[in-house]
Amino acid sequence: MEGALREAVELGRSILGQGAVATYIPELAKADPSALAAAYCGMDGKTISAGDEGTKITVQSISKVASLGLALNICGEETVFSKVGVEPSADPFNSIMRLEMRAPHRPQNPLINSGAILVLSLLPFSDSTERLEAVLDTMRRMSGNEGLRVNEAVAASEKDTSDRNRSLGYFLRSVEAMDGDVENILDSYFRQCAIECSVEDLAAMGATLACGGVNPLTGEQVFPERTALILRALMMTCGLYDGSGDFAVRVGFPAKSGVGGGIMGSVPARAGVAVVGPALDKRGNSIGGVRTLEMLSESLSLRVL
Ligand code: GLN
Repeated sequence: MEGALREAVELGRSILGQGAVATYIPELAKADPSALAAAYCGMDGKTISAGDEGTKITVQSISKVASLGLALNICGEETVFSKVGVEPSADPFNSIMRLEMRAPHRPQNPLINSGAILVLSLLPFSDSTERLEAVLDTMRRMSGNEGLRVNEAVAASEKDTSDRNRSLGYFLRSVEAMDGDVENILDSYFRQCAIECSVEDLAAMGATLACGGVNPLTGEQVFPERTALILRALMMTCGLYDGSGDFAVRVGFPAKSGVGGGIMGSVPARAGVAVVGPALDKRGNSIGGVRTLEMLSESLSLRVL
């Protein structure tokens, strides 16, 4: 297993030069584009990693899986999916275009920015810190790592450069797709995106979803089986934004990416498989990470399709 991870990371490294770190959030531009790591967490909770496994990234969009799971737990499937769709979007993750062009004006799915912001608005918290704490607690339980924290410098940087996300929030409210205090909702969105983690944390989170919602490290049922299934299904169809189809063909298991360079993969009843590599492709997915997962999928026969 260790050999397979090492070999896949080395292959991923060979194309890192073709990618670039995200710069639209200035604090993310400080990430090391040459870092790459992979981890595998089996159903026994044993985690093996390779490469630059000490690298810390912020989860960014991967947090959308946790907040959606929390909303499904608290509000129920029917309420959540009456407000946000479950169809893939062929547009970039922060696109506003489809929201305006098609009625009803609801986000295409919960894993693009507009959908994730709307999902947060459904949670029964009026205080942004309480809302954030609930999402953070969910991620801690998914990863089994009580030490997960918000990187406040990244959160502040996101807030400073948030014109697009504010546009999405205010547009949603203007068409009455979303209720609530937009600034307050966005504050918890920026901070949940800035939760810091390692590749091993991501692998454990993926394993929890693979294990029907039970964290294999702690034995805790974090999500009911139905919620884990919905999350995996949406990761499979929408997890890499407008790169989801390409990822399904090349890698073939549910995964969720973030612009911090993480990808959390979940192979049902088998493992959580994750990568961390801040150099991104044009769609905002880890370029070396996708290549690494492609190789691992092949060498460990992880494809579910
Ligand atoms: N915080 C980022 C944003 O809202 C998350 C996007 C991403 O990871 N694709 O722009």
